[in-house]
Amino acid sequence: MSDNVFRPFEVDQHITAMSRYYAGKIGSRFFVELRDKGRIMGIKCAKCGKVYAPPRQMCGPCFHTMGESDMVEVGPLGTVVTFTRVEYDSAVAPRKAPFVYALVRLDGADTALPHFLECAEGEVATGMRVEPVFAGERKGTILDINHFRPAAG
Ligand SMILES: [Zn+2]
Repeated sequence: MSDNVFRPFEVDQHITAMSRYYAGKIGSRFFVELRDKGRIMGIKCAKCGKVYAPPRQMCGPCFHTMGESDMVEVGPLGTVVTFTRVEYDSAVAPRKAPFVYALVRLDGADTALPHFLECAEGEVATGMRVEPVFAGERKGTILDINHFRPAAG
């Protein structure tokens, strides 16, 4: 190989960037209910009846705008819609691999919430009934649900 061939040079660096943003009326209520009451809130479209969890302001199928008065409690039990097992660490993942990410459709909701699922090796399956395990100290983030686990009984 010639000495004239360009080779990429990688520089390691660490960047910290704190930020703060307004979660919006619906997002704020979602996080406050989760933090203060351990309740998982969704939102029901008054026009077509679709229930979103986590909640959003606009209904995708019918473009109806929803508000705080449309929020409904969902779960806490849910059903695994799909899942993946993460085998590699990532700088942005909040926990070390290996772990399972699952899409959980909470009871009363039509959409699914992505979150961690802790269960025995090989136990995870679509259709599995699960329940949330809340963090010991809730701070108003999605990680106030520490993870889901197989539902008791
Ligand atoms: Zn709708």
